[in-house]
Amino acid sequence: MMNALLSPWTATFSLPPFAEIRDEHFAPAFDAALAEARVNIGQIAANPDAPTFANTIDALELAEALLDRVSGVFYNLAGADANDTREALMRDLAPKLSAFSSEVTNNKSLFSKIETLWQNRATLSLTPEQSRVLELYRQMFVRSGANLDGAEAARLTDVKARLAVLGTQFSQNLLADEREWFMPLTEADLEGLPDFAIAAARAAGAEKGQSGPVVTLSRSIIVPFLQFSPRRALRQKAYEAWVARGANGNANDNRAIAAETLSLREERAKLLGYQSFADFKLEPEMAKTPQAVRGLLMRVWEPARAKALSDATVLEALLHADGITGPLEPWDWRFYSEQRRKAEHDLDEAALKPYLSLNAMLAAQFDCAHRLFGLEFREIDGPFYHPDVRGWEVTRNGAHVAVFLGDYFARGSKRSGAWCSAMRSQKKLGAETRPIVVNVCNFAKGEPCLLSYDDARTLFHEFGHALHQMLSDVTYGFISGTSVARDFVELPSQLYEHWLEVPEVLEKHARHWQTGAPMPADLLQRLLAAGTYDQGFATVEFVASALVDLAFHEGPAPADPMQKQAEVLESLGMPRAIRMRHATPHFAHVFSGDGYSSGYYSYMWSEVMDADAFAAFEETGNPFDPETAKRLETFILSAGGSQPAEDLYTQFRGRMPGVEPLLKGRGLLEPV
Ligand SMILES: [Zn+2]
Repeated sequence: MMNALLSPWTATFSLPPFAEIRDEHFAPAFDAALAEARVNIGQIAANPDAPTFANTIDALELAEALLDRVSGVFYNLAGADANDTREALMRDLAPKLSAFSSEVTNNKSLFSKIETLWQNRATLSLTPEQSRVLELYRQMFVRSGANLDGAEAARLTDVKARLAVLGTQFSQNLLADEREWFMPLTEADLEGLPDFAIAAARAAGAEKGQSGPVVTLSRSIIVPFLQFSPRRALRQKAYEAWVARGANGNANDNRAIAAETLSLREERAKLLGYQSFADFKLEPEMAKTPQAVRGLLMRVWEPARAKALSDATVLEALLHADGITGPLEPWDWRFYSEQRRKAEHDLDEAALKPYLSLNAMLAAQFDCAHRLFGLEFREIDGPFYHPDVRGWEVTRNGAHVAVFLGDYFARGSKRSGAWCSAMRSQKKLGAETRPIVVNVCNFAKGEPCLLSYDDARTLFHEFGHALHQMLSDVTYGFISGTSVARDFVELPSQLYEHWLEVPEVLEKHARHWQTGAPMPADLLQRLLAAGTYDQGFATVEFVASALVDLAFHEGPAPADPMQKQAEVLESLGMPRAIRMRHATPHFAHVFSGDGYSSGYYSYMWSEVMDADAFAAFEETGNPFDPETAKRLETFILSAGGSQPAEDLYTQFRGRMPGVEPLLKGRGLLEPV
């Protein structure tokens, strides 16, 4: 049988042959790819010639080509469209891939070649990009334990393999808990829900094989329910199920996994000579130290908490006016906040949505990319990896730039949240390779799909990441696209959200899905004026999560992370009607892998820069100023990790920013 993953990909744009890929192809393809990579790396390490950049770093860059290709397809499918076979393979691959990467970084003769190059770097006539790549390779080897020997090296290898297993288990448990729970609604329970929420609940019911509408734990279903349903007992039931994900005492319980993960991370950091995992993790980031992270978060926490507490008083009064006694509870916040928004800003989320169809917002995100960077988007036919996926060819001045895939609808096989991944990254070494970039979201499927303003922001956010991949223009895949410091990577995405706030963008694109009429000017004005609405709540739920994440990794690993979480929230004076945006048992950013561990603050770190970076456009008087867009592309969007993040930003803007534009953007500078 031909294995479609291993045969040459000859389709247009060298897309993976999705229609021919079978799940049973993956395991043998990974085996073949790992075997090939081992042979290639063995040859590099055993090369008797003196090390050169070409015979070591260039060769390493090309050594795992097949593995990159197979992984790019598999991990996208595993996250966006899981099934039992794919989940089983993920569990199987986690320790295998971890062992392979340890084998590479523990290879002494390979490391000594890299070390020799590093020591001689001044004499090698390297390009600036090559110097940076060499530095990062060496850093990766050292931080992976290349300097350790004997029992310590062996223990670190085991710790990393176990962490990979735990991370995979954590995500799979979470997905299982999210998939299993739903709450049937009677027709009477639909009271107060706008049409779009009813349609989404009916579609969710059909997906779950129910005859009537249901509430699920998908954010796009449960948040509107909490916002609009006047039935307090149902809100409470749904909310409690939502925050209990991963902590239900069933086979999917993530609490013990979190505890073991934190303890192994601490051990890993200590083996490598760091005081704590946070010290280890933050060293290559812009923030560099836990103190710098805490400094930023606490600077934002105090004004956000003050704002949230004053908002809570207003919302509690609305609760009492409804004849309900007792304090405002977490399942009340969104409902009364929505009531207040209607009253104070005359803004009804349900009235907005007909103007924010997915198609209209896609046209808006593409149009902004055209005006800023001259990109053009032409929809292309699949098949892609799921019938819901849409694809576009991206060109500039007629030349191919990338393939962009959009996978927008929630389904039981998709993990929650929204993300951007590159099924193939840009690079020039070997042969010019153009990227295949995927945006995955969890919008409630509808005919048509109507977005909330928050959803539209998410769409723009993920597309900002996509631009960072698509406009990448580097030689080495190692530093391509979003391969940058974690606290820099959210800059392009969060920056792109700002174009949704440019009035002419919605004036042009926010059109009623049935009539094509533009959004009424007064509605648009009220929408934009309400931009900072409820930012006390949003900032508190975010910063609390980031501070718990930091506390988990800053000192000794807590034996009981749930207790530690409670202590941190208590010491912060967490408002009682707000919970963390992600509590520990479902904090996938922190526990599904290493990505955002002691790194959840990154969104806020990047926000300091995105507020300031957008101001660079505003200062010219033209939000699409071509000169500024050119600098953004040159120094940030095309540059990948070719220079340290701070250097890239400083070249774009002339200096590093302060925190004030962020506070102003969130409406947290005014006295409460
Ligand atoms: Zn992001």
